Amino acid sequence: MAMQAVETGKAFTGRLAHGADLLAELTRLCTEHGIRFGRVEAIGAVQRARIGFYDQAAREYVFQAIERPLEIVSLLGNISIKDGAPMVHAHIALADREGRVLGGHLAEGTILFAGEAVLQPFSGPPPVRAFDEPTGLSLWPA
Ligand code: ZN
Repeated sequence: MAMQAVETGKAFTGRLAHGADLLAELTRLCTEHGIRFGRVEAIGAVQRARIGFYDQAAREYVFQAIERPLEIVSLLGNISIKDGAPMVHAHIALADREGRVLGGHLAEGTILFAGEAVLQPFSGPPPVRAFDEPTGLSLWPA
């Protein structure tokens, strides 16, 4: 495992747009602020969600849509480069009215009700995602 020391720059904080696609909005904000490497966190609520689970045997994502309002208990992710552009990779935990939590890999199709995000840029060269044979995923360099 190769770890890289990074410096943290000034963070960006802000409200996320009602009705926007959560993943697309985070990606758009990274592009707008020139963030190619960093971390992201957010809390808030969504009108509906779409999350993925990576089926390790089949080597493909299985997605589920949750067609009801949910709280964002936690969204954590990172920003790096894939195919030459900033890519947000985020996982999300969502709670329903009874406080039951489910979560997974954040996918497009998760629509914001309200959100507050922190984008934390890192200095240095961003990791560039590449195909990883053992997992079938597009991962950071080993
Ligand atoms: Zn993931």
